[in-house]
Amino acid sequence: MNQHQPPIRFDNSYAALPERFYERRDPLPVARPSLIRLNRELAEDLGIDAGWLASPEGLDMLAGNRLPDNADPIAQAYAGHQFGNFVPQLGDGRALLIGEVVDGSGRRRDIQLKGSGRTAFSRGGDGRSALGPVLREYVVSEAMARMGVATTRALAAVTSGEQVLRETVLPGGVLTRVASSHVRVGTFQYFAVRGDTEALRLLADHVIARHYPQLQGVESPYVALLAAVVEAQARLVASWMHLGFIHGVMNTDNFSIAGETIDYGPCAFMDEFHPSTVFSSIDHAGRYAYGNQPHIAHWNLTRFAETLLPLFGADEDAAVARAQERLEAFPELFNQALQAGLRRKLGFTDAREEDAELFRDLFQLMADAKADFTLTFRGLAEDAAAEDMGTARALFADAAGFDGWVGRWRERLRHEHAEPEARRASMLSANPKYIPRNHLVEATIQAAVERDDFGPFHELCEITSRPYDEQPGREIYALPPQPEERVLQTFCGT
Ligand code: AMP
Ligand code: MG
Repeated sequence: MNQHQPPIRFDNSYAALPERFYERRDPLPVARPSLIRLNRELAEDLGIDAGWLASPEGLDMLAGNRLPDNADPIAQAYAGHQFGNFVPQLGDGRALLIGEVVDGSGRRRDIQLKGSGRTAFSRGGDGRSALGPVLREYVVSEAMARMGVATTRALAAVTSGEQVLRETVLPGGVLTRVASSHVRVGTFQYFAVRGDTEALRLLADHVIARHYPQLQGVESPYVALLAAVVEAQARLVASWMHLGFIHGVMNTDNFSIAGETIDYGPCAFMDEFHPSTVFSSIDHAGRYAYGNQPHIAHWNLTRFAETLLPLFGADEDAAVARAQERLEAFPELFNQALQAGLRRKLGFTDAREEDAELFRDLFQLMADAKADFTLTFRGLAEDAAAEDMGTARALFADAAGFDGWVGRWRERLRHEHAEPEARRASMLSANPKYIPRNHLVEATIQAAVERDDFGPFHELCEITSRPYDEQPGREIYALPPQPEERVLQTFCGT
C-alpha cells in the first residue's frame, strides 16, 4: 500500500453535523483479535481492498485496535420506543461509526464497528458484543441481502480474544456492519423530545440528501420525506412477510430511515407457519409477532411523523392533517407490496381480483396444518410444472383441503401466458430453498462458542449465499428442525 494513499477513502458526512449529534470516541482495543470471516465481495463493492482488510493492519481496524488516520469514529445519539415505552436517550452504546465510504456507483455507506467498547451511551452495558450475536447477524443479514431484502450488511466478523460476561462467560467478537446509514426513527425522536427543531431540520436535510435526493427542491420536502419513508418501510416489511421473517425487536431505534432491515438481535425465520409466532424471549405480549409486523411498522411511522410536525409549517392543525394523509397511505402501500411479492411467489405475472382470497386461504391452510413456511412455497414452485403436487401436499394433513386450493390455483394460472417450465423457473427464483433457519444458526453458534469450530458457520454462510439454487448433498439444510433441534426462543444477547 502506498504510504500516502489511505487504505480506505473515508468521507464522513455525519461527523460534519453539529457535535450534539454524537460523541467522538475511539474504539477500545481488544486483546487478541482474529479474523473469522471477511466479505470480499462486499469489500469490492465498497471499493475497499479486501487484501488490505485481511492484512494485520486491516484486522487492526476491524477489531477497533487501530484505525486509519482518516477515520473519524463517533457514537451516534438516538432515542427510541422500546416495546412501546419511550426512552429519551439510547445511542450507540456498543458501536462506533468509524466513517463513511462512497462506492463506485456513488452510493454512500456507513462502516460501523459493533462491539467496540463503551461510549457515552453505554449506560450499564460493557460496550462489547458476544460472539454469538456477531455470527447470527453476519449469516442472517447476508442471506437477507441475497434474497433481495433491503438490509444492513456484514463486512467482517472477528473474535476479540476476550471474554464478555452475560448470563455466563462468553467469547467476545466485533462485527463490521455496513449500512446506507444508521439514522433511525429514534434519531429524530432524540431531537424532537428535546425541542431541538434546528437539529431536526439538519437531520432531515441530511437524510434527504443521502437517501432521497430526488426530494431536494420539491415544494414540501419534509412531507415528501415522510411519504418516502412510509413507502420504503411498506416495501421492507412486505419483503419480510414473503420469507416468514420475524424481526423480533421492531423498536423505533431499530427502524431505519433508509428502509433497511437493521438489528438482527432476536430475529428468526419461522418454520411452522402461524401468524402469532414469536421467538424473542423478551417479547412476552407478542408485540412483534410475525403477523403484527405491519401494524408495528405503521405505529413506528406514526412516531416518525410526530417528530417531523415542527417542520411541516406553523399551522399545527394543517401539519397534523398533512402527516395523517401520508400515514394513511401505509396500509394500502403495504398491501400492494405484499400482494405483488405473493404473486411472484405463486407464479402470477398480472394481478387479478381473486388473488387476495387465494393468498388468504393458502395461509389459513398453512396455519391449520402447521406447514413449514419455506417448504410450502418451495414445494409449490418445484411441482409447478407437474401434474402431481406431491412435494407441497405432503406438508398438509388435510389433503382434500390442500387439493381444493391447488385446483383454484391451477384455474387461476390458466389466465397466465407463461409456459409451465418458465413459470416453474421464475417461481424457483422467488421461493428460497436454503435460508438460515433458526436451529442451523444456533448450531453454528454453539460449535463456534463451545468448540471453537467455525466450520459450520462458514458452511452455513456458503449455503445461504445461494438460497435459490439446488445444492446436491446439502438437502438436510433445507429441512425444518427435528423435534430435539427446535429452537423455541431467541435472545438479544446484548
Ligand atoms: P438493541 O436492543 O441492541 O437495539 O440495543 C438497545 C440499546 O442498548 C442501544 O442503545 C445499545 O447501544 C445498547 N446496548 C446494547 N448492548 C449493549 C452493551 N453490551 N453495552 C452497552 N450498550 C449496549
Ligand atoms: Mg438496536
